[in-house]
Amino acid sequence: MKRFVFVFLFLISIDLSAQNNTSVEEQTYDTDSIINIYINEINQDSIRNTIQLLQNYTTRFMLEPNRKNIALMLKEKFISMGYLNTVLDSFSTITDFNYPPFNIQDTTWQYNVIATMEGTQYSDSVCIACGHYDSFSDSILFGQAPGADDDASGVSAAFEIARIFKKMNYQPRLTIKFIAFGAEELMLFSDESGASYYAKKAYANNEKIKFVANNDMISYNRSPDNWKANFNCYKGMNWTKDFAINICMKYTSITPKVYITNEFGDSYPFWKQGFQTIYFEEREFNPYYHTTFDVVDSASMDYCAEMTKITMAMLISGTLFPTGIDDNNLSVTLNVKFYPNPVVGEIVVDYAGMDEAKMLLYNIVGECVFQKELNNGINNIDISYLPKGIYMIKISAAKGSILHKLIKE
Ligand SMILES: [Zn+2]
Repeated sequence: MKRFVFVFLFLISIDLSAQNNTSVEEQTYDTDSIINIYINEINQDSIRNTIQLLQNYTTRFMLEPNRKNIALMLKEKFISMGYLNTVLDSFSTITDFNYPPFNIQDTTWQYNVIATMEGTQYSDSVCIACGHYDSFSDSILFGQAPGADDDASGVSAAFEIARIFKKMNYQPRLTIKFIAFGAEELMLFSDESGASYYAKKAYANNEKIKFVANNDMISYNRSPDNWKANFNCYKGMNWTKDFAINICMKYTSITPKVYITNEFGDSYPFWKQGFQTIYFEEREFNPYYHTTFDVVDSASMDYCAEMTKITMAMLISGTLFPTGIDDNNLSVTLNVKFYPNPVVGEIVVDYAGMDEAKMLLYNIVGECVFQKELNNGINNIDISYLPKGIYMIKISAAKGSILHKLIKE
């Protein structure tokens, strides 16, 4: 109920600024409205600030002694947003970087930073948004590795989504985890990366992961328009692939370019454990990749913000349809019309769906003032006795619901 009241108030504020939105063909779908409201909150300056914050450490190479301080800073940042349950999940890893001229053996403690937004209904099912906060400069290793695009950008996407979800008091039905992974860059030279540690543990604990959306390098773009992105998909992960493409085409201006891979990045260990996962990456090769020039000033915040929308929309869509991955039908249509709008006395609801449905009316403060089961066909419903004003009409059936502004005169 709380969630609905909130969404409802937002729709009102949006709808009032729109033109006369009275045609029944323009019915607003619940999910679309929510997703569009949320993705429009994504703020480029906020994303830039997080990238800058990480870049300010000069280096985030995993074998540098500052790694715990960086993890603690990220933890504090999540806590300051309201994620009081944020934890550092520590693990030990043996690194053997024998790559001439470099030869380094070290055993270190590393830290994943995990913030959780508890699901209201199916809290044991989890959707994950992640990136890695460690960075790398392949010519010098120590001292300077700003890693703005790789991968402060992916971490900043998770933070931006987390920020907005708290600000808007989003109430997911499934649990959402935002994870900043450590120790990604030397994963081929270490016995454990942050993501492999997490994925193995999740498998051992039988964690019900619905999907993992990994962002790694999502801010480099030099094309003024016609934005593209690499969708690195894994063999057998068709559900995530189709879901992500659908979301991307529907809610962003980015064209996905699909690759089927079995390697690379923080998604790989999740795939190895059999979890649904996808890895989003910029389409253009970043010439500053793994150099000391990978700084925020060579990144494109407008593109990064657009890329962030994909993961955000996946998280919302994924946590509004709680019963299983097959229920993720984004094109829910209820075959319902209602008129007139504005209405004076009688509202006609023409319902042609097969399953049971009901109509609910909510007043300006979100109280349900009327509800009625709908018959298949024409329903004539007298609401002449209700006070004049703005209402929300909700028509709800098993396969989905629609929500629309209704003016009573
Ligand atoms: Zn990376």
